[in-house]
Amino acid sequence: MIAVIFVLLLLLGAFTVLVSARPANVQSWWLVDSGGHMDWGGSTRYQAEFNFAVTVWNAHRPNVIRQVRWNTMTDVMLRDFTDRSANAPIAQVWRRSVFVYGALNAGRLEFNIPMMDSISQNARRMTTLHELGHVLGVDHIPGNNVMQPNLPAVPITVLTTADRAAANRAWNYHR
Ligand SMILES: [Zn+2]
Repeated sequence: MIAVIFVLLLLLGAFTVLVSARPANVQSWWLVDSGGHMDWGGSTRYQAEFNFAVTVWNAHRPNVIRQVRWNTMTDVMLRDFTDRSANAPIAQVWRRSVFVYGALNAGRLEFNIPMMDSISQNARRMTTLHELGHVLGVDHIPGNNVMQPNLPAVPITVLTTADRAAANRAWNYHR
């Protein structure tokens, strides 16, 4: 009898670990607010590509990504920068700072002008789709997906099954 109870407790422990574990390809953070929206502010010279990526992600889950309005807080600020160093990223996402509160505490989505200007429009579209994936809590996914870590020779401008599934897991995990 004692042995049986011990086994049951072990199973309960294992179950608790499984429930609390972060799902595959899901980041520990995202930039969606408690209302289920990601309100963006600021601007970028790659606004057309950004709008394309917003349309694609909002087609997957409607009305999540919105331009900020007077009565909403900015979740992500758009910005362009210039970094010509060898390992400079094409674009990057910054988390909210835990040390700053209020409007200054928005996350950031930043595009590297010399890199963005040197790639094709479809590559810019994939880059923006990819970065918005991080904003939505999706981590890298190896293979031929938007969320693969590197920009492939032939850019992917539609969400794959794996991209969509990871976005759903991120939504359920963070919400
Ligand atoms: Zn990435």
